Amino acid sequence: MKIDFHSHSSFSNDSQAPIEDMVKGAIEKGITHLAFTDHIDYDYDEDGVTSDWAFDLDQYFETIESLKEKYQSQIQLHTGVELGVQPHLGERCNKLVHQYAFDFVIASLHTVDRKDLYNKKYFKTRTPEQALREYYDSYYNSVIQLDDFSVLGHLDLYLRYWEPLKSEPIKNYFDQIEMLYKHLIQNEKGIEVNSGGYFKYNLMSNNPSDDLLKFYKSLKGEVITLGSDAHTPEHIGTLHDDNLKRLDAIGFKYVCTFKAMKPEYHSIKTLLYT
Ligand SMILES: [Zn+2]
Ligand SMILES: [Zn+2]
Repeated sequence: MKIDFHSHSSFSNDSQAPIEDMVKGAIEKGITHLAFTDHIDYDYDEDGVTSDWAFDLDQYFETIESLKEKYQSQIQLHTGVELGVQPHLGERCNKLVHQYAFDFVIASLHTVDRKDLYNKKYFKTRTPEQALREYYDSYYNSVIQLDDFSVLGHLDLYLRYWEPLKSEPIKNYFDQIEMLYKHLIQNEKGIEVNSGGYFKYNLMSNNPSDDLLKFYKSLKGEVITLGSDAHTPEHIGTLHDDNLKRLDAIGFKYVCTFKAMKPEYHSIKTLLYT
């Protein structure tokens, strides 16, 4: 069994990869469980212009259903979405998640104070401490409004974009992160280990850092998914085994896949050694 629960296709604004090419790429890499998590980011600010990043969900579901059938002997496909959350979007996000029968929903914070982290505008007017306080505050306030989701995406995403944050002691923010983690744990939601930063942004480790994973473990967090955040076939499954070994070393017992929004637990030791 080999899992990739974070991948994009040309349904996303930022990928050119036809969805069937992603399926074939995954099969080539030995992936047995693949979730498509194309981007929906409502009210998304890009260089001062606000728009919805969205796509035709009916067509998306139909396409994945037909691929499921076509490749059923080779791979299990799961229907997911990477949903950009913001504190003012609770109602819209809930409406979407109720309307469609997703297997899996990643709640990702891509913008804070309506500023996109990717183009670095947010960081220009803040100290590292202000940037992180506001980020975690905004994440918490977004997530507590959601009726349903599965995991938080790339929890320390900001490490991809602003160098000074790499030396900011994350322990200073554990008070805020604890609130976020407790909310997850009480609701059987989790976090993902995302290797996208590794191949796209030359991070030394994946998101989130070991410190954040250990803290999650110390609070008895158990729901974890693995995702490459691949936008092209060659990145599917990146660092799959390395991340499993990392989780094993920290003491986690399971990684999860999701079906119909319910976690299914798979033994890390079995995945690694059988
Ligand atoms: Zn993302
Ligand atoms: Zn993504």
